[in-house]
Amino acid sequence: MIAYNRIDKNMTTPYINGQMIDVDPAAMTPVVNPASGKAFSKVFMARPEHMTRAIDAAYAVKDVWGNTLPSERELILIRAADVLDSMRSEVVDLLIEEGGATFGKSQFEVSYVVGVLRSAAGECRRIMGNTIPCDTPGRISMAIRRPLGVVGGIAPFNFPLILATKKVAFALAAGNTFVLKPSEETSLVGLKIAEIFDKAGLPPGVLNVVPGDGPTLGAVLCADPRVKVVLFTGSTAVGRQIGVECARRGKKFDLEMGGKSPLLVMKDANLKYAVDTAAFGLFIHQGQICMAGSRIIVEEPVYDEFLDLFVAKTKSLKVGDPRDPHTVIGPLIRASQCPFIAERIDASKAQGARVLCGGTYEGNYFQPTVLADVTPSMSVFQEELFGPVASVVKAKNADDAIQLANNTRYGLTSAVITNDLQLAMRCALELESGSVHINGCTIHDEPHAPFGGVKDSGMGREGGQWSMDELTQLKWVTIQQGEAHYPF
Ligand code: NAD
Repeated sequence: MIAYNRIDKNMTTPYINGQMIDVDPAAMTPVVNPASGKAFSKVFMARPEHMTRAIDAAYAVKDVWGNTLPSERELILIRAADVLDSMRSEVVDLLIEEGGATFGKSQFEVSYVVGVLRSAAGECRRIMGNTIPCDTPGRISMAIRRPLGVVGGIAPFNFPLILATKKVAFALAAGNTFVLKPSEETSLVGLKIAEIFDKAGLPPGVLNVVPGDGPTLGAVLCADPRVKVVLFTGSTAVGRQIGVECARRGKKFDLEMGGKSPLLVMKDANLKYAVDTAAFGLFIHQGQICMAGSRIIVEEPVYDEFLDLFVAKTKSLKVGDPRDPHTVIGPLIRASQCPFIAERIDASKAQGARVLCGGTYEGNYFQPTVLADVTPSMSVFQEELFGPVASVVKAKNADDAIQLANNTRYGLTSAVITNDLQLAMRCALELESGSVHINGCTIHDEPHAPFGGVKDSGMGREGGQWSMDELTQLKWVTIQQGEAHYPF
């Protein structure tokens, strides 16, 4: 029998085995709103022993959860979607308050996650195996999919609800139990995910959420042999470390890492549409998106006209209070990000780039910035800035545009604006990235699509059946009818 509403208050301490743990209130850390700089809540940052307790809890129920009927898992995921939908305004509020997200971005994030939960519910009845032609007389041969057991997840701050729930939902759908380590900067959103599942009737221990320091808690998750796979989304530097730690122990891992995605504007493009596409694809969430189209590569014949229109559009974007529905550019997650970005802009100016607008900051707020004449030797071309800074690059022709696009260690997404079908198909095949969007922007994700990167942007795919493949193990099973004949 499924119980509802076990937890009826805002969670601020680790959620382990279906309960918020008791902690000394004096040991709580303030949670600061990036827009106001003021503390609005507190959270307990877990210690390694809490992570171990969470793994204990997930391990203890892995077989029970792994043997639930698909319809039971489906129902809980559908309920979780309904619970989230019914808590929409509260969750939107938290995404704004804790993560500095704008009102529009927060609404989008909640709607998307409702879709993730429904999509994962649908996967529960589609965990298909195969029957295999068998070359042994009287034997039936098949491949069946089984859960992995305990899955660990480590999530970043920028889309804290989407990027954690996408891991949790498909892992639970596949019959795994889960230990989630949310970003230190969005711990409360991580705990909100636990609350949603708790209200949906998820049995204790199946999902555990442990906020705290990444290196400290991540080390426990990677080292514990009971955790069979670590799913990571975050920076490339941290992802590589996690990959090394898991590989040393022969543990599976899935890495979704950084990006420096290109938007190619070809000479036949509708420039008004290209400008709108470039602006949305870069400036949403202040550029703090792995898929942000931060390199805008424009063919020479339309370069100057594109820049004029793009600068005008950029200057029109409202910067300010993220609660104001008209605001496009809210605060960056932390103030230290601003001087980091400004230093890279200064360095690119010294190498010949032109700042056409923006380039300045106050507190956590960085003005939307357009840099023109950016070249591959500049760090703004190569390095992820995670801020509202567009690097516009001039390409001699389509060949040059494709070469420039591929001239980076990253390969998450890319996009092309053109109506030339042959060129569009060539870009789809030749651009080195996990996804290519023709006549769309670099930011695009759907719960049931295979999302992921190549090169230093990642390995593995998340979404729909691809998540289910990563989160189950194939087992070969044969059944002999009658007795087999042996040579001796
Ligand atoms: P981050 O790498 O600093 O942190 C991500 C998570 O890793 C956090 O939970 C953090 O606590 C944890 N962590 C940090 N050090 C760790 C360690 N040594 N061991 C284990 N865990 C550790 O990233 P961030 O600043 O939160 O997010 C921004 C980055 O994430 C950007 O690089 C962005 O491109 C990337 N990102 C990628 C995707 C994608 O799908 N490819 C999506 C969103 C963000």
